[in-house]
Amino acid sequence: PSLEYEELRRRLRNDIQEMWYYISAELNKFKKHIDEFTYDQREKEIQDVIKNAWEHKKSLIINIDKLKKSDGYDEWREKEAKDLSNLVQRRFRYLQNPTDCNKAKKLICSLNKGCGFGCQIHHITYCFLVAYGTERTLIMKSKGWRYHKDGWESVFKPLSDTCLSTTGTSHSNWPGDPSKQVISLPIVDNVYPKPRFQPPSIPADLAPRLEKIHGHPLVWWVGQVLKYLMRPQDHVKRTLEKAKEKLGFKKPIVGIHVRRTDKVGTEAAYHDIDEYMVKVEQYFDELETKPDVRRVFLASDDPKVITTARKRYSNYEIIGDPEIAETASVAKRYSDTSLQGIIIDIHLLSECDYLVCTFSSQVCRVAYELMQTFYADAYDRFASLDDIYYYGGQNPHPHVAILDHKPRKNGELELKIGDLIDVFGNHWDGFSKGYNTRTSMTGLFPSFKVKNPVDAVDFPKYSNIPL
Ligand code: GDP
Repeated sequence: PSLEYEELRRRLRNDIQEMWYYISAELNKFKKHIDEFTYDQREKEIQDVIKNAWEHKKSLIINIDKLKKSDGYDEWREKEAKDLSNLVQRRFRYLQNPTDCNKAKKLICSLNKGCGFGCQIHHITYCFLVAYGTERTLIMKSKGWRYHKDGWESVFKPLSDTCLSTTGTSHSNWPGDPSKQVISLPIVDNVYPKPRFQPPSIPADLAPRLEKIHGHPLVWWVGQVLKYLMRPQDHVKRTLEKAKEKLGFKKPIVGIHVRRTDKVGTEAAYHDIDEYMVKVEQYFDELETKPDVRRVFLASDDPKVITTARKRYSNYEIIGDPEIAETASVAKRYSDTSLQGIIIDIHLLSECDYLVCTFSSQVCRVAYELMQTFYADAYDRFASLDDIYYYGGQNPHPHVAILDHKPRKNGELELKIGDLIDVFGNHWDGFSKGYNTRTSMTGLFPSFKVKNPVDAVDFPKYSNIPL
């Protein structure tokens, strides 16, 4: 290891110790003298502690990132990520381009699930994963798409150059049997039995390599499927370039997605723009070299969000297109103009350095998944104001306790190493809520005491495609 690496490693250990010295000393002081402080003094003291603790944390993060750069493996990480991506893209192309479409085994899915663009993209991704898992070419039916009557190919490249026909000598509905040439797959909500190839499964033959290079292999895997599926037609490529130019989209930039209209109060809570901006501010504050301009790309289905943000945050350069947001509102959503808008917004969000959004929205989850295709490992380039990342309709897959936890307060959950925990959500305050399958209890536990294991499943190995 380099001298820099060894020095940083020791420094990090010391600095964690220093942070603990500081926080425990301040809290003890506070406990002892709490009655002597006036209300104003108390408030000021606490504000100081928050500020100082933040500085500690910021320095730790910056140094951890430096440690990664100086460990000698950065080049390997970049190359390994590229090699893996090329490998799965080759496999996808092979699967989707059979030499004889008349004989090829096929899986059929209809794009038109009765939901929004992100939801439909995730629907097709699930179909693609089942196709990959059953070694069948995915044939998508998309004519009369609610976003564009001409279907998928009005904006994205066809899924195949050789095989788009749904015909075959024998048909069956899922699961059918392997001898049937054509199998139709329903939407994930109605599929029975549940295919084991759907998320959170990842192929076991790739898992060891993936776990090494990526902090969230499932997101990487889904991102690779999106990379194949969402290849833009040339006119869409031009539209994207024009949109970037018109908006002045340049790095460094943070992407915000604010989901409003029909989502608020039904599937998600209202979050004020200030809540998003706190995260944006923290991101910029944590950068080692501060940019001249704090640029933010803001996408929403409510144009008012963009005007409000610009008014309140004049020290930021907030770019975004209120006209696109206007076409995104629930009343105007299913049209080709709105389709262009959502493609631009998702694409630009995915190209940002960091994403602030609500993972309850599929728009944001698609952007986060696509973002993974632009970095070796971008698992941590987000702040979600609500859910942790998940894949809609995914097979159950519990977290595992890696540390014991003894409840200290009412409502806390006991953990023993190895316990399987269904996690309902991270409260982003150090605690998550979950259900311990061993004790059948529900409660709060420190988020750092569990891990999300990878769900490696045996997929076909595509061994004719060279590694
Ligand atoms: P979810 O409902 O947020 O989980 O995501 P869906 O993608 O399933 O449905 C929401 C739909 O609203 C999107 O597909 C878009 O049509 C529209 N929409 C929501 N947010 C935005 C946005 O930021 N920009 C644009 N252009 N459209 C949006």
